[in-house]
Amino acid sequence: MYNKFVKHIIFPLHEKILGRETYQFLGRLEKEQYLDGRELELLRFRKLKALLIHAGKNISFYKQRFADAGFNPEKMQAIEDIRVLPLLSKEEIRKNLDRMKWKDTPGGLFRYNTGGSSGKPLVFYFDRRRQAYDAAARALTHKWWGVDIGDKELYLWGSPLEITKQDKMKDFRDWLTNDLLISAFEISEKKIPEMMEKIKRFKPKCVFGYPSTIALFCEVAGKFGYRLDKEGVNVVFSTAEVLYDHQRESISKSFGGVPVTDCYGSREGGFVCHECEQGRYHVIEPNYLIEFLQNGRDVGIGEDGEVILTHLDAWGMPFIRYRTGDVAQPGEGGCTCGRTWRTIRNIRGRTTDFIVTPDGRWQHALSVIYVVRDIEGVDEFKIIQHRPDEVEVLIKIHPEIFPANGQTCIVQGFKKRMGNEVNVMVNFVDEIPRDASGKYRYVVSKVASFK
Ligand SMILES: [Zn+2]
Repeated sequence: MYNKFVKHIIFPLHEKILGRETYQFLGRLEKEQYLDGRELELLRFRKLKALLIHAGKNISFYKQRFADAGFNPEKMQAIEDIRVLPLLSKEEIRKNLDRMKWKDTPGGLFRYNTGGSSGKPLVFYFDRRRQAYDAAARALTHKWWGVDIGDKELYLWGSPLEITKQDKMKDFRDWLTNDLLISAFEISEKKIPEMMEKIKRFKPKCVFGYPSTIALFCEVAGKFGYRLDKEGVNVVFSTAEVLYDHQRESISKSFGGVPVTDCYGSREGGFVCHECEQGRYHVIEPNYLIEFLQNGRDVGIGEDGEVILTHLDAWGMPFIRYRTGDVAQPGEGGCTCGRTWRTIRNIRGRTTDFIVTPDGRWQHALSVIYVVRDIEGVDEFKIIQHRPDEVEVLIKIHPEIFPANGQTCIVQGFKKRMGNEVNVMVNFVDEIPRDASGKYRYVVSKVASFK
């Protein structure tokens, strides 16, 4: 009964207070997932053109960019016309952040940041419209798997922001909206009985979280003889990282053979696609224009390309031909589920790692990444755990912005998360060494070896 109360009363009220039209957008997406190719193309063209006209008029960065490219959005004839515009890099966003904002955004702008897969922090802004679209996309794809707004959801989350900031507010909101959050940072032998007790009382309909965290939780719970297959979980939603086949299998098995389903997106890019019941990743096409490029040319079905996205509903800070840095392949069109949205395959490039605290707790790498990336003036960083009690932080800074107490903040932040006994060495460098692949992982633990 309470889930109906949440769905029809609490959640709509919550969204209304925040000024978000999530329900209206959800209603539209439900219809748009079955549009035929022509109608869908028309819808996206209309949305893209409106976005570009707005950006050219109201956002100084794009005004100049369009002028430089000789591009007039008013004269657009087809979606492909956008391709005269250059790709947008993370570096450009860092340099031009202030000029990329729509100053008169209805409802204001909200600041976020991300470490990304490269370890370089990126600050960006969302408006209410974009938040509502991302939330609607999430609600829609939950419905694909039989989970409705208001159904009980267990979060096994990697982000410490959820547990350190606004604790009480979040608890209250979770209670209202039927969510239970278990901190990934606290998964340890000692805490498992308490966590299992909470889950038994809560009886979640689904689980949502980082696959590495969920897999770890299942493993530790299983090791101590706890069963997760009798708690009423119908489906597990994996997010934020690559879901490996072995994780999909082990998680599914732990929850009694339920489906484990995956999505792809990012903090800055939003909710890009989700698996349908046929196992195909459908792009939420009314919200996105997606390109796959390799050395500036389009790749074909089954070829690796960098995912370039244009978020059609990000008006407060538009992302137009944004280079995600993620690699994936365009998939075949058409799907037996009946949805017309195009598909993506073989998503790679979003792997993260764990660190192990001196007292033996496994922590998601993000817990220490947040410590470094939240400090102003950090350009690039890499965290290397040499021993359980020894961590090295390589850091490249903008000296004029980096605060005088920056180093102390890093050391204290690490001690707070890993324990006081940990020895933190902060080394300022001009260059962060890369892996042989050309990429670099932002956290490397020589202690954690999690399969
Ligand atoms: Zn499908």
